Amino acid sequence: MITPRLLPQMLTAIVAVIENNAEEVTQLDQVIGDGDHVTNLQRGLQALVLQQDEISLLDWPKAWQKIGMTLMSSVGGASGSLYATLFMALSKASTGSDISLASFATAFAEAVEAVKKRGKSEAGEKTLLDVYVPVADYLLSVANQSLELNSVLTEVSEVAIKGMEATRDMLATKGRASFLEARSLGHIDAGAKTAQLMISSIVEVLTKALATPA
Ligand code: ADP
Ligand code: MG
Repeated sequence: MITPRLLPQMLTAIVAVIENNAEEVTQLDQVIGDGDHVTNLQRGLQALVLQQDEISLLDWPKAWQKIGMTLMSSVGGASGSLYATLFMALSKASTGSDISLASFATAFAEAVEAVKKRGKSEAGEKTLLDVYVPVADYLLSVANQSLELNSVLTEVSEVAIKGMEATRDMLATKGRASFLEARSLGHIDAGAKTAQLMISSIVEVLTKALATPA
């Protein structure tokens, strides 16, 4: 079963992938943002690492709530409040400790809707939503099919990569990058890049966990 006990492993993988890509992402955020995206994220990740033992004992709705609150109080910047919104909305949209693909897909789609509202933005505006919206759409599309979880996870990673890549040719209309107008063309959005890296890390941890039954 996939429980919050996997959170420490997920966090370890995420911290590593953000560290390994810190320079590249910072460069992206320096071109079209203010260069602080990696530091903002790392502040949130450090705060979560300090709480991870406690959080991993909770059920999913409570774990997501605690993650959201921790991010809200530790991360500055637009991405901090957007991620806090994502997790708090995920918590609100979930009930009970048992999650299925179908229930997660519905809750995740609601959480992504909440992020859109909070950021007053949509997919196609060169932000992290260009990763989260297609992932949410894909999950909803397979929610009621009886696919192997493994193949769903592999596809999630592919969809995230495609979404991230697509931001390269988008014109930023939200966030700091929008001040640059056409100069944002040709560069991947930093927030989309880290979203994809984090999703792919989570997919890897889940794929491994599914292959080694407890
Ligand atoms: P800030 O923009 O406040 O410096 P960060 O640098 O941490 O915050 O995060 C920047 C990322 O946040 C962007 O690359 C983009 O993906 C995302 N972002 C910024 N504003 C919005 C918004 N209104 N809606 C969705 N995502 C946004
Ligand atoms: Mg920034």
